[in-house]
Amino acid sequence: MSTTKQAVQLPTLEQSRRKYDRLRVCRKCGRFTILPGDSCPDCGKSRLVPVMEQARRLTGRRMLNDILLTIILVIGAIVAAPTTTLIALCAGGGVMILAALIIVQRRFRERATLRQLSRLFWQERTAIYDGLVEDQRVGVELVRDGEEVEGYHILRQTAVVVHNDRLRLALLSLLQNFRLRSDMDLELESLITRDFDPLVAEYIGEVARLKRDIIKDKAIRYIIAHEPKILQMEQGWNILISVTSAMVRMKRYIALYPGFIRRYARHLPKERFVRLYRIVHSDSELLADALAQDLDSIRMELYASDTTFGGQTTGAQRS
Ligand SMILES: [Zn+2]
Repeated sequence: MSTTKQAVQLPTLEQSRRKYDRLRVCRKCGRFTILPGDSCPDCGKSRLVPVMEQARRLTGRRMLNDILLTIILVIGAIVAAPTTTLIALCAGGGVMILAALIIVQRRFRERATLRQLSRLFWQERTAIYDGLVEDQRVGVELVRDGEEVEGYHILRQTAVVVHNDRLRLALLSLLQNFRLRSDMDLELESLITRDFDPLVAEYIGEVARLKRDIIKDKAIRYIIAHEPKILQMEQGWNILISVTSAMVRMKRYIALYPGFIRRYARHLPKERFVRLYRIVHSDSELLADALAQDLDSIRMELYASDTTFGGQTTGAQRS
């Protein structure tokens, strides 16, 4: 590990109920942003509202339009009615229709708002994307000015809404400058790119070393899919061993990828090897796999006189 990395406190991303909670739109110029602050980064006006509120507003307007249209139709019918009986019928029917409309609108308001929100996301997708790309530029500038943590925080927030590999790699190369610790709020899955990049493999390896609990299917599949390329990396071997060490945490991963684990079992730290050995020996299906024979011969070779392996297993506990 290089010593040039800076020790930082990474801000925790507040757990937001929905990923668009912090996205706001300017009611003056239509700029979308996740940047904090009261004024719009484009026009400077303090007219930023959360997208949810904007959707609620648009839904209200749409509903009001429906009511006005109904009133106009009812009035039209009343005016056109030739007899007083028909006028009374039109007026009575009109009132009933209006009442029904208002009840239905009130009842489905929340659902209509959510539909409006997804319509807004679709219609404004380019504006949202452009706004967040601008936000990212602000983040990158902060990083350049030495405000790495703030910059990282902004990039990370834009990454919640905009998913692309370029942004993921930008975040990963920022993270490379920080000395990561296990007590940090580290993300993994959202940073895994579609295509292979050594930055991603390095990051997965580091997380596997620091916080093996967050190594899950997506990271494992990435590592397995790109194993040959990782082996060509300078730190590749260590990455593969760290990830295997993390996989040994759960029986499920051993059962899913016995072939991969076999290739690295010999090089696992002893404590991880013992764990793997015990899990395999506690499961009849795993015992039938070639992995089990391998483990036996590794044990004979490396740990012949070792008693830690014991008789019966307690492989059930997770570590
Ligand atoms: Zn604006």
